[in-house]
Amino acid sequence: MSTTRTSTTQTPEPRTVLVTGGNRGIGLAIARAFVAQGDRVAITSRSGQGPDDVFTVAGDVTDSASVDAAVTAVEEHFGPIDVVVANAGITHDMLLMRMSEDDFTSVIDTNLTGTFRVVQRTVKGMIKKRRGRIVLVSSVVGLLGGAGQANYAASKAGLVGFARSVTRELGARGITANVVAPGFIETEMTQVLEPELKKKYQQQIPAGRFAQPEEVARVCTWLASDDAAYISGAVIPVDGGLGMGH
Ligand code: NDP
Repeated sequence: MSTTRTSTTQTPEPRTVLVTGGNRGIGLAIARAFVAQGDRVAITSRSGQGPDDVFTVAGDVTDSASVDAAVTAVEEHFGPIDVVVANAGITHDMLLMRMSEDDFTSVIDTNLTGTFRVVQRTVKGMIKKRRGRIVLVSSVVGLLGGAGQANYAASKAGLVGFARSVTRELGARGITANVVAPGFIETEMTQVLEPELKKKYQQQIPAGRFAQPEEVARVCTWLASDDAAYISGAVIPVDGGLGMGH
């Protein structure tokens, strides 16, 4: 396999891609987008099997041993991982005065420390190959903040500093680390919103609508492409203009 893929006019060689939380929602759309361009795609799932054309491994990002076992299984099945998309995430919204320490740390543990566990484990193979793509799924809330979301916003803002630090450490080894910051996307995570609240949010979005998961997925495949080889430590909003200027 060549070390660089310099142009989209060349037929890209398939790579091994791991998407955490790829069994549903945005993660599933990301996994499908990589499959559609011919890559070998593995997903972690805590609950259930992914589509037939992806390799599903059990994996809980809050558990280092589980992450290690999942990545090892993918490496044994497909070989070293070229692209990792750290997508698994949770919300546990609560006003600050009512938020317990566990409410706070459990969200940090999944969204931020979970990403650390996955990236630290997968980057080993990338360092050896002197090539790799790391894409972290953050949120517009990490940049804007959100009432009732101090835990979630802190976890998602932390991903920006994390990606930029990884960029400084590993940029010279052909590895990029970028952040995607979605706004409101139509998934189970946003299905729980009351219709009135959803309408209120939609009025604040310049695009006037929530996005489909595929709109986030296309940005992830682009960040993992050769065309994005010189983009690292960036935060790419996919939010219909909601977070402009942040
Ligand atoms: P969903 O709730 O639909 O899916 C979340 C995914 O994360 C599931 O696959 C879930 O697995 C997985 N997951 C959660 N906890 C863990 C864990 N401990 N270990 C492994 N996997 C875990 O959410 P979305 O698809 O909407 O969100 C995906 C990402 O996008 C998240 O990081 C979210 O914060 C972010 N995001 C979403 C937005 C939206 O509007 N929907 C907006 C901005 C960001 P399981 O099925 O086993 O629970």
